[in-house]
Amino acid sequence: SEIKKYFDVSKGIFKKKKQYLKAVDRVNLTLNKGETVGIVGESGCGKSTLANIVMGALPPDEGKIIFDNTDIYSLSKKELKEKRRGFQMVFQDPSSSLNPRMTVFDIIAEPLKSFNIVKGKQLIEEVEKLLSIVGLDISYKERYAHEFSGGQRQRIVIARALALKPKLIVCDEPVSALDVSIQAQILNLLRELQDKYHLAYLFIGHGLPSVHYISDRIAVMYLGEIVETGKKDIIFERPAHPYTRALLSSVPVPDPDYQTENKLEEAEILGDLPNPIDPPSGCKFHTRCPVAQDICKQKPPVLLSIGDNQQTACHFPITKSMEETNVYKASI
Ligand code: SF4
Ligand code: MG
Repeated sequence: SEIKKYFDVSKGIFKKKKQYLKAVDRVNLTLNKGETVGIVGESGCGKSTLANIVMGALPPDEGKIIFDNTDIYSLSKKELKEKRRGFQMVFQDPSSSLNPRMTVFDIIAEPLKSFNIVKGKQLIEEVEKLLSIVGLDISYKERYAHEFSGGQRQRIVIARALALKPKLIVCDEPVSALDVSIQAQILNLLRELQDKYHLAYLFIGHGLPSVHYISDRIAVMYLGEIVETGKKDIIFERPAHPYTRALLSSVPVPDPDYQTENKLEEAEILGDLPNPIDPPSGCKFHTRCPVAQDICKQKPPVLLSIGDNQQTACHFPITKSMEETNVYKASI
């Protein structure tokens, strides 16, 4: 079957006014129908900025976001609003993305009303259908968001995101504010919905186990750039970039029950992230890289294919598996 390209981010450079922070630079990413691409990296690496650029909320200085063959930043406001039906967002904290003065019904009905999709009795039926799709009782519709647990609130957010039948949902750390026991339920719901509706997800993650669980492919970001991409198992088993290795060696092997969701902030072995406003020359990772050489300080590496659909931006990619490199791990 033909795989349809849903969106393509190329060379998105975002400069924060005056400071010229390249929050996201040289990012080139394609997401296909029904596919999940997980984005990992430490806080401040540009993940949320990338999400905002993809969502049409932050015009890049250079580059394009192609969604369904259209450059979304070439559209008028009205056209963009229409196009935005096709891509929705689920945020990290369900409490702050739900209006406390609105009932669950009003929250989920809002996008349907604003696009004039259904009215009256049909609107009620549609909201009830969305509630049951995300595993919530239809009687909840008259209640307010604060009456629910974090996991239930995230289900409400997901129901609202599904209302317009999107093709892509950008999930910005959708489970990191939830109890570990609830995280797996929400991840399973996202997977079920993906199978049912052929959704594509751009899944911005914090915990590596959840990203591993949900993703088909993974992109690793460092200081606004993608430093490595590949199929998830390849990235976990034989990461070629020293940064990916450092991230992975700081966490245990993914636990299927997600009882040990690790935060990347805990990856202290690497020391501090450099100031993104004044990033290191050459390879931005050279100040923290355990295998850096002189050339790394001068020449920025580009993302190159190293086989098996894996791409790495490193002058000295590592070809051994994680298992074979216990010695290397110990030396970081
Ligand atoms: Fe390390 Fe050099 Fe590779 Fe950068 S290019 S990750 S500094 S080895
Ligand atoms: Mg973030």
